[in-house]
Amino acid sequence: MKIKRKYIAVLLVATMLSGCAARTAQDTVKYTELYESTIFAMDTVMDLQIYGEQSMLDEAEELIFGLERLLSVTNVNSEIYRLNHEGRAELSDDTAKLLEQALELCERTDGALDITIYPAVRAWGFTTGDYRVPDSGELAEILENVDYTGVSLEGTSAALPDGMEVDLGSVAKGYTSTSVLDMLRAKGVTSALLNLGGNVHALGSKPDGSVWRVGVRDPESSEMIGAVEIRNEAVITSGGYERYFEQDGVTYWHIIDPSTAAPARSGLVSVSIISENGTLADAFSTALFVMGLDDAAEFWRESDDFEAIFVTEDDKLYITEGLEDSFTPLGRFEDERVEVLRRD
Ligand code: AMP
Ligand code: MG
Repeated sequence: MKIKRKYIAVLLVATMLSGCAARTAQDTVKYTELYESTIFAMDTVMDLQIYGEQSMLDEAEELIFGLERLLSVTNVNSEIYRLNHEGRAELSDDTAKLLEQALELCERTDGALDITIYPAVRAWGFTTGDYRVPDSGELAEILENVDYTGVSLEGTSAALPDGMEVDLGSVAKGYTSTSVLDMLRAKGVTSALLNLGGNVHALGSKPDGSVWRVGVRDPESSEMIGAVEIRNEAVITSGGYERYFEQDGVTYWHIIDPSTAAPARSGLVSVSIISENGTLADAFSTALFVMGLDDAAEFWRESDDFEAIFVTEDDKLYITEGLEDSFTPLGRFEDERVEVLRRD
């Protein structure tokens, strides 16, 4: 589905302001003409900007719609739907590859990311919009089927124990942007920016060699909390504000703690991950939201493949030290102290 740009402009969070780094003489820029489109896929608005050729933009859209058809939990023709309903499925290479990566990331986060969370996501009504608060008995029953170690994947053959269902919603967009950029890179593209519903992923720098500057949304409003300068990286955010409902004065959001089957209340309201690996950035934005600030900071200290930005319920902004030179606070944080998390 195509959307006219002017209607969705307000939804886009990526801002591209000019950067300053110069391209070296050895770099050859083959493509300088911008091709862009806005599509609706994976339940969100996607904005694609590719310095390349029209055929590449067409191929990028096809790739996205193709992955959506494979990975959707609600489309009765998807591979994930089949796996969930038949308990086993022969998967395409793409679905098997993502499932394998997702299981590794579940393990690395010690189950803060758990792709078998789907029965909980459904029980709270996040798949249909028929929101409800399940009682503790129902949640306890659901928890019996939440355990990613029960998923079996051998080559491209996947199987689930009775009652278990998977949901790749926490990683699908990061995997998708990575796949599109890999395809473009292989065709010689050196500049592209994808915004998949606020999850931004850049290929290279802008054609003039300057960095991409990406806005990070304020979970409290449609303003920015800051901008981060990137090259060849993804900036992926998980926030309670993305999908939620309120009942009796309590807000319930779509990021679920796999140890309770209830919305994660960790003291964080948004987590952004910056990494060259889009799938990892998407997985960790969800997982670190579940962990909460202290465990997330410890997890980052033990890692060397991402940086992070955290906003807490009590309105504090934290960045990891690798972002000190590339992050600029904006909006309500412009004149506030930004806490920098350090490795030692
Ligand atoms: P994201 O927007 O990337 O944080 O992904 C959130 C989506 O992932 C939710 O809408 C659920 O479908 C699913 N999800 C929620 N909590 C978890 C979790 N702890 N582990 C894995 N997937 C989750
Ligand atoms: Mg995610």
